[in-house]
Amino acid sequence: MHEASIAGSIVRSVLSAAAEAKARKVETVVLEFGEWSAFQPEQVEFWLRIGFENTPAASAAFEFRTVPGRIRCRACGTEGPCPKPENGAIDPFIGPVLECPSCGGSDVEIMSGREAVVKSIRVKK
Ligand SMILES: [Zn+2]
Repeated sequence: MHEASIAGSIVRSVLSAAAEAKARKVETVVLEFGEWSAFQPEQVEFWLRIGFENTPAASAAFEFRTVPGRIRCRACGTEGPCPKPENGAIDPFIGPVLECPSCGGSDVEIMSGREAVVKSIRVKK
């Protein structure tokens, strides 16, 4: 399951950051998700709760932030935000199928919008 594996890597990076900071308790975990990532925040949160059981992050609050997607068109050089694909379908492996808002071409490179990263954590020492 997709969300379970991303949650697993989030758990590892939060716990290693907490250990480095010698934290007794992780209070908040700020997560950034690209607007085109295929993750459901509720699903990720579900797996994070399981992953953080019996750890200093067991009672942490999660803050989800959305990172806007940006593209660069290889055909016309346009860079910037891009409307979501009309059918809304996002393949978890190849990502959204996007069209350049300027020329309608599909040879676009995704600059941001697919990430799922730990932005920061707040801890109590
Ligand atoms: Zn273009």
